[in-house]
Amino acid sequence: MVITTLADTLVRSVENVTDTVNETLFEPVIRLGVTGLARAGKTVFITSLVANLMDRGRMPGLVAAQEGRFASAFLQPQPDNTIPRFDFETHLNALTAPEPHWPDSTRAVSELRLSLKVQPAGLLSGLQGPRVIHLDIVDYPGEWLLDLALLDKDYVQWSREVLERIEDRPEATAFLQMLSGTDGASRHEETRAKHLASAFTAYLKAARGAGYYDCTPGRFLLPGDLEGAPVLTFAPLPAGDAPRRSLAREMARRFEAYKAEVVKPFFRDHFARIDRQVVLVDALGAIHKGPKAVEDMRRAMADILGAFRPGRNDFLTRLLMGKRVERILFAATKADHLHHSQHDRLAAIMAALTREARDRAQFAGATTEAMALAALRATTEHSGTHEGRVLDMVRGKLLDTGRQAAFYPGELPEDPNALLAPARDGAEAWLDGDYQVMNFAPAPLTLRPGEGPPHIRLDRAAQFLIGDRL
Ligand code: GDP
Repeated sequence: MVITTLADTLVRSVENVTDTVNETLFEPVIRLGVTGLARAGKTVFITSLVANLMDRGRMPGLVAAQEGRFASAFLQPQPDNTIPRFDFETHLNALTAPEPHWPDSTRAVSELRLSLKVQPAGLLSGLQGPRVIHLDIVDYPGEWLLDLALLDKDYVQWSREVLERIEDRPEATAFLQMLSGTDGASRHEETRAKHLASAFTAYLKAARGAGYYDCTPGRFLLPGDLEGAPVLTFAPLPAGDAPRRSLAREMARRFEAYKAEVVKPFFRDHFARIDRQVVLVDALGAIHKGPKAVEDMRRAMADILGAFRPGRNDFLTRLLMGKRVERILFAATKADHLHHSQHDRLAAIMAALTREARDRAQFAGATTEAMALAALRATTEHSGTHEGRVLDMVRGKLLDTGRQAAFYPGELPEDPNALLAPARDGAEAWLDGDYQVMNFAPAPLTLRPGEGPPHIRLDRAAQFLIGDRL
């Protein structure tokens, strides 16, 4: 029996070795991370990207497809047995049903393997058959990425910073009131801890709704299967005595457990293995919410970039051991809310935000790019007159009422600074008018054979993210 076990182990390790050799020599793997804060458009992006890689009729910007080198793309079982599979089929069914609807959003990490069969380019192209390249797409909430900053802090420092930040925010009133009646040195009681944690979570949710991005710990917003667990049952407390068995001592212990048992494993198991990354940003949503939301989005982008900067954090540096993400795309989603005459302006705003985030994070390393796209085009373009002026609008079915409507979101400035400068200076509202957003329902699709769902610049995004490896 010992011998069989031994032999079994041997065979397995040989299998493992051949697997690895196969992968590295013959079947390269690209791990593409897709992230962004809640509702940024991750689920729709992945669903449409995969569908459009399988049927490439609308992907002229993907060079390998344009050159006719793309033989096929097919889904395969993913290599990671413990990560939930991204539910591509259900999401695609939602978008392509006779009465289409938006799919359920990302709540936790998930993964999908799409294998691409591509004829190599260049001198050897005629001599070799097509190669298989595996694209492992990893979907994870951006909120979890922002937690990296927590690793540098202890509970007292974190509490101080959070309490300073939320002091004047109306969304925090209820939590702060509860806090004023709380003595951290008093004996720990679970009910009290729970009340504080749920009031703090309610604050985080309200702050998120109001457009703030600094809403960590990220799992408080998207707990996944940790809902109600002690690692999520803490809240910041003002500095003070923390004797044994006190509330403050227990809160500090849970904060450390959150770092060790939630944040670190995420970075180790998922983040550290990513080669290419797309960060989706609902920039139009933030512009609609106002200058504060835009400024906050800019900070969040810098924080996100900071996570991709090896050397910033000891834990991460050790974890990455010199490996780094090669390309990062910051993409403004839902560009189909704008007539194409305004797409360049949205892209310019995204580019300016990315540049500033790079400067702020003192980022050097990966190639970054900014873009405006729509993973699923839900509107058509329409020119109409309003108050005697001809306006470039978009038309679609409104999500709330189901009625068709034409929509003009406002005119984005040609110079991104017209938005970014007031945002940086802490303006309360935009000087020149308002920017509206509208929720459109996905339009019913009639797809011809070989065509994926309609999109805007998804092909260019794919070219930037993986085109060089095909
Ligand atoms: P996630 O939370 O990042 O996974 O976000 P989702 O992919 O679920 O998208 C959130 C919502 O944004 C969707 O339910 C849609 O209402 C909207 N949305 C996402 N992508 C697009 C797009 O390309 N065009 C339009 N018009 N709306 C989109």
